Amino acid sequence: NNNLSKKNGAISPSVTLAITAKAKKMKADGIDIVSFGAGEPDFKTPDHIRKAAVKVIEEGNIGYTAAAGLPQLKKAICDKLKEDNNLDYLPENIVVSNGAKHSIYNALQAICNPGDEVIISVPYWVSYPEMVKMADAKPIFVETSEENGFKYTKENLLKAVNEKTKAILLNSPNNPTGTVYTKEEIEDIAKIAVENNIYIISDEIYEKLIYDGNHVSIASLGEDIKRLTIVINGMSKAYAMTGWRIGYLAADKEIAKIITNIQSHATSNPNTIAQYASIEALKGDQEPINQMNKAFDERRKYMVDKINSIKNLSCKMPKGAFYVMVNISKLIGKDLGGQKINGSMDFAQYLLDNAKVAVIPGAGFGTDNYIRLSYATSLENIEEGLNRIEKAVSK
Ligand code: PLP
Repeated sequence: NNNLSKKNGAISPSVTLAITAKAKKMKADGIDIVSFGAGEPDFKTPDHIRKAAVKVIEEGNIGYTAAAGLPQLKKAICDKLKEDNNLDYLPENIVVSNGAKHSIYNALQAICNPGDEVIISVPYWVSYPEMVKMADAKPIFVETSEENGFKYTKENLLKAVNEKTKAILLNSPNNPTGTVYTKEEIEDIAKIAVENNIYIISDEIYEKLIYDGNHVSIASLGEDIKRLTIVINGMSKAYAMTGWRIGYLAADKEIAKIITNIQSHATSNPNTIAQYASIEALKGDQEPINQMNKAFDERRKYMVDKINSIKNLSCKMPKGAFYVMVNISKLIGKDLGGQKINGSMDFAQYLLDNAKVAVIPGAGFGTDNYIRLSYATSLENIEEGLNRIEKAVSK
Protein backbone atom coordinates (compact mmCIF):
# COMPACT_ATOMS: atom_id res chain seq x y z
CA ASN A 1 0.00 0.00 0.00
CA ASN A 2 1.12 3.58 -0.50
CA ASN A 3 0.34 5.03 2.95
CA LEU A 4 3.09 7.26 4.27
CA SER A 5 4.73 6.79 7.67
CA LYS A 6 2.27 7.78 10.41
CA LYS A 7 5.02 8.47 12.90
CA ASN A 8 7.08 10.67 10.64
CA GLY A 9 4.11 12.33 8.97
CA ALA A 10 3.23 13.75 12.37
CA ILE A 11 6.59 15.50 12.81
CA SER A 12 6.01 19.26 12.75
CA PRO A 13 8.08 21.59 10.61
CA SER A 14 10.39 23.92 12.50
CA VAL A 15 8.61 27.20 13.36
CA THR A 16 11.94 28.96 13.54
CA LEU A 17 12.73 27.93 10.00
CA ALA A 18 9.31 29.04 8.69
CA ILE A 19 9.73 32.64 9.91
CA THR A 20 13.37 32.88 8.89
CA ALA A 21 12.47 31.52 5.44
CA LYS A 22 9.82 34.23 5.07
CA ALA A 23 12.27 36.91 6.19
CA LYS A 24 14.90 35.60 3.76
CA LYS A 25 12.38 35.72 0.93
CA MET A 26 11.47 39.33 1.77
CA LYS A 27 15.16 40.19 1.85
CA ALA A 28 15.69 38.53 -1.53
CA ASP A 29 12.78 40.61 -2.85
CA GLY A 30 14.75 43.72 -1.94
CA ILE A 31 12.95 44.54 1.32
CA ASP A 32 15.25 45.91 4.02
CA ILE A 33 14.74 43.36 6.80
CA VAL A 34 16.61 43.28 10.10
CA SER A 35 16.74 39.69 11.28
CA PHE A 36 17.03 38.59 14.89
CA GLY A 37 16.41 35.02 13.84
CA ALA A 38 19.98 33.75 13.53
CA GLY A 39 20.86 30.51 15.25
CA GLU A 40 24.49 30.71 14.26
CA PRO A 41 27.48 32.97 14.87
CA ASP A 42 27.74 35.79 12.34
CA PHE A 43 31.52 35.27 12.21
CA LYS A 44 33.56 33.43 9.65
CA THR A 45 35.18 30.12 10.55
CA PRO A 46 38.67 31.07 11.83
CA ASP A 47 41.36 31.15 9.20
CA HIS A 48 43.58 28.40 10.59
CA ILE A 49 40.65 25.96 10.58
CA ARG A 50 39.78 26.74 6.97
CA LYS A 51 43.44 26.33 6.01
CA ALA A 52 43.52 22.88 7.60
CA ALA A 53 40.59 21.87 5.39
CA VAL A 54 42.24 23.28 2.27
CA LYS A 55 45.37 21.27 3.06
CA VAL A 56 43.33 18.06 3.21
CA ILE A 57 41.69 18.86 -0.11
CA GLU A 58 45.02 19.60 -1.74
CA GLU A 59 46.58 16.39 -0.47
CA GLY A 60 43.56 14.55 -1.77
CA ASN A 61 43.23 11.61 0.63
CA ILE A 62 39.53 12.07 1.25
CA GLY A 63 38.15 8.59 1.71
CA TYR A 64 35.72 7.18 4.24
CA THR A 65 36.88 7.22 7.83
CA ALA A 66 35.72 4.89 10.60
CA ALA A 67 31.94 5.31 10.94
CA ALA A 68 32.24 6.85 14.42
CA GLY A 69 34.97 9.25 13.35
CA LEU A 70 38.70 9.56 12.75
CA PRO A 71 40.76 8.08 15.59
CA GLN A 72 42.83 11.31 15.75
CA LEU A 73 39.70 13.41 16.09
CA LYS A 74 38.29 11.14 18.79
CA LYS A 75 41.58 11.49 20.63
CA ALA A 76 41.42 15.30 20.29
CA ILE A 77 37.86 15.19 21.67
CA CYS A 78 39.00 13.07 24.65
CA ASP A 79 41.76 15.60 25.34
CA LYS A 80 39.26 18.47 25.12
CA LEU A 81 36.85 16.75 27.50
CA LYS A 82 39.67 16.15 29.98
CA GLU A 83 41.09 19.63 29.76
CA ASP A 84 37.87 21.68 29.70
CA ASN A 85 35.47 19.46 31.61
CA ASN A 86 37.65 17.19 33.75
CA LEU A 87 36.09 14.15 32.07
CA ASP A 88 38.00 10.93 31.44
CA TYR A 89 36.82 9.22 28.30
CA LEU A 90 38.52 6.83 25.88
CA PRO A 91 38.08 7.00 22.10
CA GLU A 92 35.67 4.02 22.38
CA ASN A 93 33.29 6.33 24.29
CA ILE A 94 33.16 8.93 21.51
CA VAL A 95 30.98 9.06 18.39
CA VAL A 96 31.47 11.90 15.90
CA SER A 97 28.36 12.78 13.88
CA ASN A 98 26.89 15.28 11.41
CA GLY A 99 26.38 18.01 13.98
CA ALA A 100 25.28 17.94 17.60
CA LYS A 101 21.70 17.65 16.38
CA HIS A 102 22.57 14.30 14.82
CA SER A 103 24.33 13.27 18.05
CA ILE A 104 21.18 14.00 20.08
CA TYR A 105 19.06 12.09 17.58
CA ASN A 106 21.43 9.11 17.79
CA ALA A 107 21.47 9.24 21.59
CA LEU A 108 17.68 9.06 21.76
CA GLN A 109 17.60 6.24 19.21
CA ALA A 110 20.08 4.30 21.32
CA ILE A 111 18.27 4.49 24.66
CA CYS A 112 14.53 4.79 23.97
CA ASN A 113 11.86 2.13 23.71
CA PRO A 114 8.16 2.64 22.90
CA GLY A 115 6.37 4.07 25.93
CA ASP A 116 9.48 5.64 27.45
CA GLU A 117 9.24 9.23 28.62
CA VAL A 118 11.85 11.92 28.11
CA ILE A 119 11.69 15.08 30.21
CA ILE A 120 12.18 18.43 28.48
CA SER A 121 12.11 21.88 30.11
CA VAL A 122 9.89 24.56 28.58
CA PRO A 123 10.87 26.75 26.74
CA TYR A 124 12.75 24.13 24.75
CA TRP A 125 14.89 23.96 21.66
CA VAL A 126 12.44 23.18 18.85
CA SER A 127 14.00 19.89 17.81
CA TYR A 128 13.93 18.08 21.17
CA PRO A 129 10.26 17.04 21.26
CA GLU A 130 10.26 15.94 17.64
CA MET A 131 13.45 13.91 18.05
CA VAL A 132 11.98 12.21 21.12
CA LYS A 133 8.90 11.26 19.09
CA MET A 134 11.08 9.94 16.27
CA ALA A 135 12.61 7.59 18.86
CA ASP A 136 9.08 6.28 19.73
CA ALA A 137 9.22 7.94 23.14
CA LYS A 138 7.01 10.59 24.67
CA PRO A 139 8.16 14.13 25.49
CA ILE A 140 7.16 15.19 29.01
CA PHE A 141 7.23 18.94 29.43
CA VAL A 142 8.33 20.62 32.63
CA GLU A 143 7.30 24.26 32.78
CA THR A 144 9.85 26.75 34.10
CA SER A 145 9.43 30.42 34.93
CA GLU A 146 11.27 33.56 34.02
CA GLU A 147 11.54 34.41 37.74
CA ASN A 148 13.67 31.32 38.43
CA GLY A 149 15.73 31.83 35.27
CA PHE A 150 13.85 29.25 33.16
CA LYS A 151 15.43 26.37 35.07
CA TYR A 152 14.34 22.94 36.21
CA THR A 153 13.72 22.94 39.93
CA LYS A 154 14.07 19.85 42.13
CA GLU A 155 10.36 19.98 42.89
CA ASN A 156 9.02 20.19 39.35
CA LEU A 157 11.50 17.62 38.09
CA LEU A 158 10.51 15.13 40.77
CA LYS A 159 6.86 15.65 39.88
CA ALA A 160 7.59 14.63 36.30
CA VAL A 161 9.69 11.56 37.14
CA ASN A 162 8.04 8.15 37.20
CA GLU A 163 8.93 4.55 36.31
CA LYS A 164 8.57 5.31 32.59
CA THR A 165 11.12 8.14 32.66
CA LYS A 166 14.06 7.21 30.48
CA ALA A 167 15.97 10.48 30.25
CA ILE A 168 16.13 14.15 31.13
CA LEU A 169 17.26 16.58 28.46
CA LEU A 170 19.50 19.23 29.96
CA ASN A 171 20.72 22.18 27.89
CA SER A 172 23.08 24.61 29.60
CA PRO A 173 23.81 27.22 28.29
CA ASN A 174 20.30 27.12 26.96
CA ASN A 175 18.67 27.86 23.65
CA PRO A 176 16.32 29.80 23.67
CA THR A 177 16.72 31.30 27.16
CA GLY A 178 20.47 31.84 27.59
CA THR A 179 20.19 30.18 31.00
CA VAL A 180 23.35 28.75 32.58
CA TYR A 181 22.82 26.36 35.50
CA THR A 182 25.04 26.66 38.57
CA LYS A 183 27.05 23.73 39.87
CA GLU A 184 24.63 23.30 42.80
CA GLU A 185 21.62 23.17 40.49
CA ILE A 186 23.34 20.60 38.30
CA GLU A 187 24.18 18.57 41.39
CA ASP A 188 20.47 18.48 42.28
CA ILE A 189 19.59 17.19 38.82
CA ALA A 190 22.37 14.60 38.97
CA LYS A 191 21.10 13.36 42.32
CA ILE A 192 17.58 12.86 40.93
CA ALA A 193 18.97 11.04 37.89
CA VAL A 194 21.16 8.70 39.94
CA GLU A 195 18.48 7.93 42.53
CA ASN A 196 15.96 7.09 39.82
CA ASN A 197 18.37 5.54 37.32
CA ILE A 198 17.53 8.04 34.57
CA TYR A 199 19.79 9.00 31.70
CA ILE A 200 20.82 12.60 31.16
CA ILE A 201 21.30 13.89 27.66
CA SER A 202 23.46 16.92 28.35
CA ASP A 203 23.48 19.27 25.37
CA GLU A 204 26.57 21.41 25.93
CA ILE A 205 26.82 22.91 22.44
CA TYR A 206 26.92 26.49 23.81
CA GLU A 207 29.53 25.65 26.45
CA LYS A 208 32.07 28.18 25.18
CA LEU A 209 29.55 31.02 24.99
CA ILE A 210 29.20 32.00 28.65
CA TYR A 211 29.48 35.61 29.84
CA ASP A 212 28.50 35.22 33.51
CA GLY A 213 29.22 32.02 35.41
CA ASN A 214 31.02 28.82 34.50
CA HIS A 215 30.17 25.71 32.60
CA VAL A 216 29.90 22.50 34.61
CA SER A 217 29.40 19.28 32.72
CA ILE A 218 27.00 17.13 34.72
CA ALA A 219 29.05 14.05 33.85
CA SER A 220 31.97 15.47 35.85
CA LEU A 221 30.10 15.19 39.15
CA GLY A 222 30.91 11.53 39.83
CA GLU A 223 31.13 8.05 38.34
CA ASP A 224 27.43 7.23 38.89
CA ILE A 225 26.16 10.23 37.00
CA LYS A 226 28.86 9.91 34.35
CA ARG A 227 27.66 6.38 33.55
CA LEU A 228 24.13 7.74 32.99
CA THR A 229 25.12 10.83 30.99
CA ILE A 230 25.46 11.28 27.27
CA VAL A 231 27.50 14.44 26.77
CA ILE A 232 26.68 16.28 23.55
CA ASN A 233 28.91 18.92 22.04
CA GLY A 234 30.23 20.07 18.67
CA MET A 235 32.04 22.58 16.54
CA SER A 236 29.14 24.70 15.29
CA LYS A 237 28.78 27.44 17.85
CA ALA A 238 32.21 27.62 19.52
CA TYR A 239 34.19 27.73 16.28
CA ALA A 240 31.62 29.35 13.95
CA MET A 241 31.48 26.06 12.03
CA THR A 242 27.73 25.50 11.64
CA GLY A 243 27.96 24.52 7.99
CA TRP A 244 30.76 22.01 8.50
CA ARG A 245 28.38 19.67 10.34
CA ILE A 246 30.54 18.13 13.02
CA GLY A 247 29.18 17.27 16.44
CA TYR A 248 30.02 14.52 18.89
CA LEU A 249 28.88 12.67 21.95
CA ALA A 250 30.63 10.94 24.82
CA ALA A 251 28.87 8.09 26.57
CA ASP A 252 29.20 4.76 28.28
CA LYS A 253 30.91 2.41 25.83
CA GLU A 254 27.84 0.20 25.41
CA ILE A 255 25.77 3.22 24.33
CA ALA A 256 28.56 4.47 22.07
CA LYS A 257 28.70 1.03 20.44
CA ILE A 258 24.96 1.01 19.65
CA ILE A 259 25.24 4.52 18.20
CA THR A 260 28.26 3.54 16.13
CA ASN A 261 26.26 0.64 14.69
CA ILE A 262 23.26 2.87 13.92
CA GLN A 263 25.49 5.43 12.28
CA SER A 264 27.39 2.83 10.27
CA HIS A 265 24.13 1.97 8.52
CA ALA A 266 22.39 5.35 8.46
CA THR A 267 25.07 7.83 7.38
CA SER A 268 28.58 6.31 7.70
CA ASN A 269 31.22 8.79 8.85
CA PRO A 270 30.62 12.54 8.89
CA ASN A 271 32.48 14.53 6.23
CA THR A 272 36.16 13.62 6.24
CA ILE A 273 37.46 17.12 5.41
CA ALA A 274 35.37 18.65 8.17
CA GLN A 275 36.70 16.06 10.63
CA TYR A 276 40.29 17.07 9.90
CA ALA A 277 39.34 20.74 10.23
CA SER A 278 37.76 19.91 13.59
CA ILE A 279 41.06 18.49 14.88
CA GLU A 280 42.63 21.86 14.07
CA ALA A 281 39.71 23.66 15.75
CA LEU A 282 40.18 21.69 18.97
CA LYS A 283 43.98 21.62 19.01
CA GLY A 284 44.80 24.99 17.41
CA ASP A 285 44.57 28.59 18.55
CA GLN A 286 41.55 29.18 20.82
CA GLU A 287 41.85 32.98 20.73
CA PRO A 288 39.09 33.44 18.08
CA ILE A 289 36.59 32.19 20.69
CA ASN A 290 37.56 35.04 23.02
CA GLN A 291 37.18 37.56 20.20
CA MET A 292 33.69 36.31 19.38
CA ASN A 293 32.67 36.23 23.01
CA LYS A 294 33.74 39.81 23.52
CA ALA A 295 31.51 40.92 20.65
CA PHE A 296 28.59 38.78 21.85
CA ASP A 297 28.90 40.12 25.38
CA GLU A 298 28.83 43.74 24.24
CA ARG A 299 25.76 43.12 22.09
CA ARG A 300 24.03 41.18 24.86
CA LYS A 301 24.32 44.09 27.26
CA TYR A 302 23.21 46.63 24.70
CA MET A 303 20.22 44.52 23.67
CA VAL A 304 19.01 43.85 27.20
CA ASP A 305 19.28 47.50 28.24
CA LYS A 306 17.46 48.71 25.17
CA ILE A 307 14.65 46.15 25.42
CA ASN A 308 14.04 47.03 29.05
CA SER A 309 13.73 50.69 28.06
CA ILE A 310 10.88 49.89 25.64
CA LYS A 311 7.39 50.19 27.07
CA ASN A 312 5.56 46.85 27.48
CA LEU A 313 8.65 44.77 26.74
CA SER A 314 11.05 43.27 29.24
CA CYS A 315 13.81 40.69 29.52
CA LYS A 316 16.31 39.27 31.97
CA MET A 317 20.05 39.29 31.34
CA PRO A 318 20.91 35.91 29.80
CA LYS A 319 24.20 34.37 30.97
CA GLY A 320 25.14 32.39 27.88
CA ALA A 321 24.48 31.38 24.24
CA PHE A 322 23.40 34.31 22.03
CA TYR A 323 19.68 34.69 22.62
CA VAL A 324 17.41 36.95 24.63
CA MET A 325 13.88 35.90 25.59
CA VAL A 326 11.69 38.98 25.49
CA ASN A 327 8.56 38.97 27.59
CA ILE A 328 5.64 40.23 25.49
CA SER A 329 2.80 39.30 27.86
CA LYS A 330 1.80 42.96 28.31
CA LEU A 331 1.06 43.20 24.58
CA ILE A 332 -1.05 40.09 24.31
CA GLY A 333 -4.72 40.86 23.79
CA LYS A 334 -3.83 44.43 22.78
CA ASP A 335 -4.25 46.23 19.48
CA LEU A 336 -1.10 47.33 17.66
CA GLY A 337 -1.59 49.57 14.65
CA GLY A 338 -5.15 48.29 14.38
CA GLN A 339 -4.08 44.65 14.60
CA LYS A 340 -5.08 42.38 17.48
CA ILE A 341 -2.12 40.54 19.01
CA ASN A 342 -3.34 37.16 20.21
CA GLY A 343 0.02 35.58 20.80
CA SER A 344 3.68 35.38 19.84
CA MET A 345 2.94 34.27 16.27
CA ASP A 346 0.74 37.34 15.71
CA PHE A 347 3.37 39.58 17.23
CA ALA A 348 6.18 38.13 15.11
CA GLN A 349 4.02 38.54 12.02
CA TYR A 350 3.18 42.10 13.03
CA LEU A 351 6.86 42.99 13.46
CA LEU A 352 7.77 41.42 10.15
CA ASP A 353 5.03 43.26 8.24
CA ASN A 354 5.17 46.62 10.03
CA ALA A 355 8.71 47.01 11.34
CA LYS A 356 10.48 44.78 8.82
CA VAL A 357 12.08 42.94 11.70
CA ALA A 358 12.25 39.14 11.95
CA VAL A 359 12.00 37.55 15.41
CA ILE A 360 11.23 34.01 16.51
CA PRO A 361 7.84 33.55 18.19
CA GLY A 362 7.99 31.79 21.57
CA ALA A 363 5.21 29.45 20.44
CA GLY A 364 7.91 27.48 18.64
CA PHE A 365 9.57 26.84 22.00
CA GLY A 366 6.34 26.00 23.79
CA THR A 367 5.91 29.42 25.40
CA ASP A 368 3.60 31.96 23.84
CA ASN A 369 4.34 34.99 26.05
CA TYR A 370 7.82 35.49 24.60
CA ILE A 371 9.77 36.11 21.45
CA ARG A 372 13.41 35.14 20.97
CA LEU A 373 15.93 37.62 19.66
CA SER A 374 19.37 36.47 18.60
CA TYR A 375 22.34 38.79 19.02
CA ALA A 376 24.43 36.86 16.54
CA THR A 377 24.22 39.92 14.31
CA SER A 378 26.10 43.22 14.21
CA LEU A 379 25.63 45.95 16.81
CA GLU A 380 24.40 48.26 14.03
CA ASN A 381 21.71 45.76 13.07
CA ILE A 382 20.74 45.36 16.70
CA GLU A 383 20.42 49.13 17.18
CA GLU A 384 18.40 49.56 14.00
CA GLY A 385 16.18 46.55 14.65
CA LEU A 386 15.39 47.52 18.23
CA ASN A 387 14.60 51.10 17.20
CA ARG A 388 12.15 49.71 14.69
CA ILE A 389 10.58 47.45 17.29
CA GLU A 390 10.30 50.38 19.70
CA LYS A 391 8.38 52.38 17.10
CA ALA A 392 6.16 49.46 16.13
CA VAL A 393 5.06 48.66 19.68
CA SER A 394 4.13 52.26 20.41
CA LYS A 395 1.55 52.32 17.59
N1 PLP B 1 21.48 22.02 20.48
C1 PLP B 1 21.01 23.26 20.56
C2 PLP B 1 20.38 23.71 21.81
C3 PLP B 1 21.10 24.12 19.45
O1 PLP B 1 20.61 25.38 19.52
C4 PLP B 1 21.70 23.65 18.26
C5 PLP B 1 21.76 24.50 17.04
O2 PLP B 1 20.99 25.40 16.85
C6 PLP B 1 22.19 22.33 18.24
C7 PLP B 1 22.06 21.55 19.37
C8 PLP B 1 22.75 21.69 17.01
O3 PLP B 1 23.91 22.17 16.54
P1 PLP B 1 24.67 21.45 15.34
O4 PLP B 1 23.84 20.34 14.82
O5 PLP B 1 24.91 22.51 14.32
O6 PLP B 1 25.94 20.94 15.93
